Amino acid sequence: MTTRSETRTTLDHLLTEIEYRNPAQPEFHQAAHEVLETLAPVVAARPEYAEPGLIERLVEPERQVLFRVPWQDDKGRVHVNRGFRVEFNSALGPYKGGLRFHPSVNLGVIKFLGFEQIFKNALTGLGIGGGKGGSDFDPHGRSDAEVMRFCQSFMTELHRHIGEHTDVPAGDIGVGGREIGYLFGQYRRITNRWEAGVLTGKGQGWGGSLIRPEATGYGNVLFAAAMLRERGEDLEGQTAVVSGSGNVAIYTIEKLAALGANAVTCSDSSGYVVDEKGVDVELLKQVKEVERGRVDTYAERRGSSARFVPGGSVWDVPADLALPSATQNELDVNAAATLVRNGVKAVSEGANMPATPEAVHLLQQAGVAFGPGKAANAGGVAVSALEMAQNHARTSWTAAKVEEELADIMNNIHTTCHETAERYDAPGDYVTGANIAGFERVADAMLAQGVI
Ligand code: NDP
Repeated sequence: MTTRSETRTTLDHLLTEIEYRNPAQPEFHQAAHEVLETLAPVVAARPEYAEPGLIERLVEPERQVLFRVPWQDDKGRVHVNRGFRVEFNSALGPYKGGLRFHPSVNLGVIKFLGFEQIFKNALTGLGIGGGKGGSDFDPHGRSDAEVMRFCQSFMTELHRHIGEHTDVPAGDIGVGGREIGYLFGQYRRITNRWEAGVLTGKGQGWGGSLIRPEATGYGNVLFAAAMLRERGEDLEGQTAVVSGSGNVAIYTIEKLAALGANAVTCSDSSGYVVDEKGVDVELLKQVKEVERGRVDTYAERRGSSARFVPGGSVWDVPADLALPSATQNELDVNAAATLVRNGVKAVSEGANMPATPEAVHLLQQAGVAFGPGKAANAGGVAVSALEMAQNHARTSWTAAKVEEELADIMNNIHTTCHETAERYDAPGDYVTGANIAGFERVADAMLAQGVI
């Protein structure tokens, strides 16, 4: 039997190999380190996982699609963007994961997101594999007609690679209900099929699930509540700092209020807002979702309780809880130190990989309950899988039923992570618990299905 230290050496060699074979992809290296560094105890304890080639296969996407996306703006000028779909692992089901439209998108970013998605999807307990896609297209400031033409061009290539039994994209940064509508329309036109299960996050009159827009934010608050419960506390009366002001942030703020807590911030790439009375979620929805405005407009309309801080760090605002809900690496070690100094009790990741590895380490060392994104924000993809189930059965569930399922799934994920961490001598370490529990499920399926 291999010891934990021998296993660690093998995993370290593999990490060096990953960096060598995937140059200039720092986010993917970071995500691979974060997972592989926690696997030594399970690989040492279960010899089948040390089988040559298993982890090497896990870190190599099954397929990577890169394509040109040409489109014309309203003045007739041609733009050329790059499209990506990384189909990482389908041992548990069709590839599943969102599409991100943001200028920072490149292959390394999509690979980090796709890799995370494998373990996240495994943790939901549902039959979905891991994938991710997107483009370096920037929807900010573009008209509806421009976004439509871009989405149609993107789908003209993507349609060859997706399908309800193959690969099922959804939204992510820059991709919401409007974009999913245009993408679905073009897929239907090209294929001449009403294939509802090919995309999730659809509109509610044409195959979308109730509670899908809310699911990631709501799920993250439920995960934070479960971590607090473990420590004999609840959400009632707690204050929270939330970053971002998009889909995840909005429904995080809404659920916190519904459970008696108070989110006092929101942000975007221009700065952040502190609202002493608590963020008014209906006003935020109006400004961000209806008018597609910025958070400074929220502050202007809200009156004296709110002020806009250009630039700066939202993590400087003291609170009991922190729920990063914008983007990767938005909470660094200095921000983590500030949170700890201000007495934060729990940090739960709504975004994917928002805390840097040094920040996570510092928070855990300080005894802060830390919920990693692959567990805490899994509610979105879980309800996407429930949308696929409803599409397959040609039915739609009530909001109450979907919310009940979501709550069960989030509580199960919390229990799984908690118990797995204890089983591997890391009590209270949700990072280790999530990585090992997700890995076990995927690795078992991969071993059973042979070397493919
Ligand atoms: P949205 O596009 O709806 O909102 C993103 C928000 O984050 C905006 O406020 C945006 O501000 C801000 N933001 C994005 N990039 C940056 C940046 N580089 N610097 C500062 N602010 C930034 O996206 P979502 O809410 O859907 O996604 C947020 C996070 O949650 C992402 O990490 C995503 O991967 C993750 N996630 C999303 C799920 C979902 O169901 N939507 C599921 C699981 C995870 P601005 O407009 O100024 O760019």
